Amino acid sequence: MRSRLAPSPTGALHVGNVRTFLLTWLHVRAAGGTLVLRVDDLDGPRVKRGAERDALDDLRWLGLDWDEAEGVLVQSQRGAVYEAVADDLVARGLAYPCVCTRSEVETAASAPHGPDGPRYPGTCRGRFSSLADAVARTGRPAALRFVAAPGPAAFDDLLFGPQAFDPHAETGDFVVFKSNGTAAYQLATVVDDDASAVDLVVRGADLLPSTSRQLLLHRALGLRPPRHLHLPLVVGPDGRRLAKRHGDTSVRALRAAGWTAPGLVGRVAETAGLAAPGERVSPRDLLARYDPARLTREPVVLDATAFAVAR
Ligand code: GLU
Repeated sequence: MRSRLAPSPTGALHVGNVRTFLLTWLHVRAAGGTLVLRVDDLDGPRVKRGAERDALDDLRWLGLDWDEAEGVLVQSQRGAVYEAVADDLVARGLAYPCVCTRSEVETAASAPHGPDGPRYPGTCRGRFSSLADAVARTGRPAALRFVAAPGPAAFDDLLFGPQAFDPHAETGDFVVFKSNGTAAYQLATVVDDDASAVDLVVRGADLLPSTSRQLLLHRALGLRPPRHLHLPLVVGPDGRRLAKRHGDTSVRALRAAGWTAPGLVGRVAETAGLAAPGERVSPRDLLARYDPARLTREPVVLDATAFAVAR
């Protein structure tokens, strides 16, 4: 088993991320697998200075390690690799330049849209011969969209069971290279999982629909897809994904408030039935208790009040 921890340094690591990373770590370490670190820092404007260093420091502080000998993939340093893959897709007619703005796509979409945005109706398909042609003829920056063939892309999630999202129907042709010149998440993650020989992807359940898009890319690129284990999200009492509005649950803030690593690992492990209330444990202590058959699919409800008293 080879998997990865892929923090996005767009903000501070919070207890929702900690739960995902702790369970990823347990799942891989309990199986004697290899865990690679990847830094998902492509989301340019949202990447915060210092957040990468803080995230890695928080992971180490919690006792979550990775196999350092495997090296670290830093996505912002892999532009040339992604560009070559994108060029290949365009050359094979599997991706095309698109100059539509976000609001034009919103306006053009006929159906109300789902969580992953409006469906792209294919406005720019067949319009341009190349990225340079698109920019020259419109004076606009151009993105690249992947042609999503009709029909569902099915997979068997290790926790959520059989899934079959239909990218063609849900998002339409999706962006694989952004108009600001960086690879989009879908392309980068597929290319990097392959580069690291990752055969099991563990991540939050918000990315279940993305998996079908990624499988289309694996297919187009002739890559063997990994297996998937999606974990339920941590949500606030309002049912929405844990965020600032639910109070500060960042590891930084909790450390500053006096939380110890075993206290925090214990509190998060409690939400997975792996620790007793008030128990202090290290990830290593939990290895003997971890049983993937006991993972549950329901979202975990927490907010800052669950962390009001440091331990
Ligand atoms: N960096 C992404 C996140 O923090 C994970 C992406 C993935 O696992 O594919 O949500």
